[in-house]
Amino acid sequence: MRTQDYIAREDKFGAHNYHPLPVVLDRGEGVYVWDVEGKKYFDFLSAYSAVNQGHCHPKIISAMTEQAEKLTLTSRAFYTSVLGEYEEYVSKFFGYDKVLPMNSGAEGDETALKLCRKWAYTKKGVPENEAKIIVCEGNFHGRTITIISMSTDPDSYKGFGPYTPGFITIPYDDLEALERELQDPNVAGFLVEPIQGEAGVYVPSEGYLSKAFELCRENNVLFIADEVQTGLARTGKLLACDHENVRPDILILGKALSGGAYPVSAVLADDDIMLCIKPGEHGSTYGGNPVACKVAIAALDVIREEKLAENAENLGEYFRDELGKINSEMVETIRGKGLLNAIVIRPKGGKTAWDVCVAMKENGMLAKPTHEHIIRFAPPLVITKEQIDESVEIIKKTLAEFE
Ligand code: PLP
Repeated sequence: MRTQDYIAREDKFGAHNYHPLPVVLDRGEGVYVWDVEGKKYFDFLSAYSAVNQGHCHPKIISAMTEQAEKLTLTSRAFYTSVLGEYEEYVSKFFGYDKVLPMNSGAEGDETALKLCRKWAYTKKGVPENEAKIIVCEGNFHGRTITIISMSTDPDSYKGFGPYTPGFITIPYDDLEALERELQDPNVAGFLVEPIQGEAGVYVPSEGYLSKAFELCRENNVLFIADEVQTGLARTGKLLACDHENVRPDILILGKALSGGAYPVSAVLADDDIMLCIKPGEHGSTYGGNPVACKVAIAALDVIREEKLAENAENLGEYFRDELGKINSEMVETIRGKGLLNAIVIRPKGGKTAWDVCVAMKENGMLAKPTHEHIIRFAPPLVITKEQIDESVEIIKKTLAEFE
């Protein structure tokens, strides 16, 4: 089968809920992926930052296969020999009392919302069914009905109503709006992405997170950080909130918590919040399964052992500097933090960010536009300076083709 045959088969038998670049991948290792024709590419999407540790990291894969041969799933009806090991490891790793394990990022967000509402009723004294959670314009937290109810992107929410009530939307990076809405005594939480990834890598003003946290604290409102995309070394610190020394009341992790090997997400909080949810009130058949636990321990080990946060910090700055030297009319803006970066493309002669991504693919680099004009550059964090140099050359060459 050739590339077109694979694409045609997916098109015929799969739902059309994605619009992939026309490349069919077959293999991955480190920062590279190979297509079915044997062509090699730099992966500058990293599965939306799930593959921070690089494709098929040997330590993660061996943890996964070893556990897969021993015990894969029991459900949470029983204890296992590995769940507690993981719970202790991950809780201490991030400095929280407890973790609640789930699978997808969206489930992590749903869990955080439930936890926040439960806390509001049992601890804060909000009247039943009156709790409100503040969210930001341009947010992306996943695809469930409740999560799209918080979305301001018509592609996400339109045609899927009726929506879940209980959310207040404010502009991102707007402390005045936050302060105003926090006056409502029924507000229980503020859910925020430290950098808005899907929206197009919007980095808020310096001090935004720490001030927002302070305002939440003053008003007895939980600060909930969705670090599904920004967390786990991507932005140059273990968590993006670490840039401002903010310790969220509820922390949501996903994606790179498994290094791309397995769906693993987690919600972390201290006892006064986490213990608001009682047995039987929340869960998931696969959440905290033995394979997920072993994979997540290995994935976190790799982040620490290979100093991925430091690498992201150093090479991220270098990458943005090098991008800044590219002389192209099509580059409108370059922004980002660590190795979560984006360029905003100024369309030229009818050519858009999509065309640039297709041309980059031809030149050996994979990236995907978000919101029409933005191309996110988020390579695996195991990337080296030499590989960054090669990648910048590809971007430069590609943009030159449009001049
Ligand atoms: N939260 C954020 C910030 C995300 O970027 C994403 C996915 O891109 C999600 C949640 C949802 O994660 P998942 O696709 O694993 O459900």
